[in-house]
Amino acid sequence: MEVFEEKKGNIFKILSEAISEGIVIVNEKQEIVTSNEAADSMFGYEAKELLGKSINLLIPTEYRHSHTEQVEDYLEKSGPRQMGHGRDLYGQRKDGSVFPVEAGLNPFEIYGSKYVMALVTDISIRKTQEKEIIELNLLLEQKIGERTKELQQTIKELKEEVSKRKEAEHKIMESLRKERELNELKTKFLSLVSHEFKTPLSGILTSATLVGKYIDTDQQDKREKHLKTIQNKVKYLNNILNDFLSIERMESGKATYKFDTFPLSKVVNEVIYNANMLLKEGQRINYPQNIDDISLNFDEKILELSLTNLINNAIKYSSGHTVIDVVVIPKKDSISIKIIDEGMGIPEKEQKFIFNRYFRAENALLDQGTGIGLNIVKGHLESLGGTITFESEEGKGSTFTITFPTKNNTN
Ligand code: ADP
Repeated sequence: MEVFEEKKGNIFKILSEAISEGIVIVNEKQEIVTSNEAADSMFGYEAKELLGKSINLLIPTEYRHSHTEQVEDYLEKSGPRQMGHGRDLYGQRKDGSVFPVEAGLNPFEIYGSKYVMALVTDISIRKTQEKEIIELNLLLEQKIGERTKELQQTIKELKEEVSKRKEAEHKIMESLRKERELNELKTKFLSLVSHEFKTPLSGILTSATLVGKYIDTDQQDKREKHLKTIQNKVKYLNNILNDFLSIERMESGKATYKFDTFPLSKVVNEVIYNANMLLKEGQRINYPQNIDDISLNFDEKILELSLTNLINNAIKYSSGHTVIDVVVIPKKDSISIKIIDEGMGIPEKEQKFIFNRYFRAENALLDQGTGIGLNIVKGHLESLGGTITFESEEGKGSTFTITFPTKNNTN
């Protein structure tokens, strides 16, 4: 014990008082053999008061038991080390209050006796700060969480705003496009009227003038011939106007469809009746006579417009003395109608453009036409769940097929 005595010049004393950590040295019986001033004041004791006391005095009651075991075990194994290992360590002051500590243990042997020197630091302030930091972090995380939520909400609102704006922009672009198309249509109409109407109108004028000249009673057949010409040309002009109105309605979104139940034969007979007036010499239309019991639920006007366009084309783009076949093929939920001609056909390289508005194939340019009939037929049929297709060979003929759904197909 002499080594630790309070002698003047004792090197241990000099060193131990110089450092700020508390130093407590215990013997094998775990009795305190010396403590420095820092340790004494840390634990609230007077100088020398701890001498000969059990180290347990400095350890809170609930940790004492395990501590004793650990020290024994420690003395066995020896070697310096840090106490605690992830656990919080506590010291107990003289007044019974408990405070967090950090302790490093250093075993040593002097004159055959074993000692352990404990270096003890009061970490109350650090612990409080750690706690504060943890609390601050928690608060910060909470705030970040709240801000993130707010930001997410803002982003969501912005996204909604962006998509609303895009939608509005899309609508504006769409109506601009429609307006442009309508303007284009009007310009086109004016130029078409000046060209396409000229020939039939001068034909009508000629016929009307000639009719006026046949004043004799026996010239009735000549009068009728010219009256028929006038009727045909007026019908032709009327068809063009109908086509234009149809596009205008489709483009402005005003196309309204009306479903009715009607017999197929009614529409076919009407269309054939009108078409017969346009036939060239020797041309003939074969159409089914046994369709009286087929009734459909469809837009009658659209069916009429489609058949008129296709049959008029078949007549127009075929020469005299040819046959045009109209074939009706009833299916379970739809009906297909084929219009087969033996006419000029459509050049293969131009077939892909045939449904484009205003498109006219090169071999058809000598015949009058506007290039809008097929385009509107396709537009209307597709709006009503139908289709239009064709097969064609130049110089041999064409087959156009329309198919449309029908509810009351009672064939
Ligand atoms: P239009 O007959 O007034 O020119 P359409 O839209 O009805 O307009 O037809 C577009 C083009 O398709 C025609 O100009 C013609 O070149 C071609 N076409 C349509 N039907 C036939 C047909 N039956 N035989 C040959 N060509 C056709």
